[in-house]
Amino acid sequence: MGDNTNDKNIFESPQVESDSIEVLSLKLLKATDELTKKNEALNKSEKARKEMLSNISHDLRAPITAIRSSIDLLNSMNDISRDDLKSTLGIIDRRVANLENLINDMYYLFCVEDEGRKLDIETVDAVTFLENYFFDAIVDSRYDNHDMQLDVPADLNCSIAIDVQKTVRVLDNLFTNAAKYSGDGSSITLGAGLEGEWLKITVSDNGIGIDEDAVKHIFERTYTVSSARTPGVEAGSGLGLSIVRAVIEREGGTIHCDSTPGCGTTFTIELKTF
Ligand code: ADP
Repeated sequence: MGDNTNDKNIFESPQVESDSIEVLSLKLLKATDELTKKNEALNKSEKARKEMLSNISHDLRAPITAIRSSIDLLNSMNDISRDDLKSTLGIIDRRVANLENLINDMYYLFCVEDEGRKLDIETVDAVTFLENYFFDAIVDSRYDNHDMQLDVPADLNCSIAIDVQKTVRVLDNLFTNAAKYSGDGSSITLGAGLEGEWLKITVSDNGIGIDEDAVKHIFERTYTVSSARTPGVEAGSGLGLSIVRAVIEREGGTIHCDSTPGCGTTFTIELKTF
């Protein structure tokens, strides 16, 4: 045991000596408040992580169960007609495609969200990028039954800093959704306009729209993975809009959705111009 002077050096901080009890209590309250907030944020993200894992395992399990049943069926049959074999293999094929789709999207989202991976950012002319995208997209047979419109003023004269490949993926996701959730003959419009130093890019459709309650959740992985399926529409991975938001946020932009059930939906992306 050392002498008294040494003990004092170890156990007393000069800060404590100079603060009154009131100041110390206030500091303690503030620190407790901050800790509580951090704890709440951690609990929230832990809850979201658990929900996401549970939804992903659910979505992985469904096609695997179907594949397993088809294989069991094939194994249990002594004689199988060519037609039965073809239709059972067809089921397996579609379910494997669902699985591939889901796994590819999960990996894509993981890569985009990983701050350690750099995006391939380049500065491009906004009008050229949007026009090129539009004229490449409209020849795709997915849009054969839609009225495709371009509403981008030619004189916007601005550049945006984007990862071109990933932003093409963003527009692809929004365009395919617009086509998926609207009937034949309906229109899909790619628009753009300037607001101060921000470029607003819009993808609008006049399809089935989204309920007010659902709009709040469509960008969440946990929600889109399992709860937002629309009857009659071929199931996607449910991660499309999460990927869209993740890319745009990493490019320093924002995205939001306005929708009226029965009338249509508009997604608006805002990106800083240069
Ligand atoms: P997925 O389409 O694979 O389910 P997304 O993340 O792309 O997943 O979309 C999430 C949900 O948002 C969709 O399931 C659908 O209910 C809704 N949604 C997205 N885009 C539109 C749209 N343009 N019109 C109507 N509903 C849409």
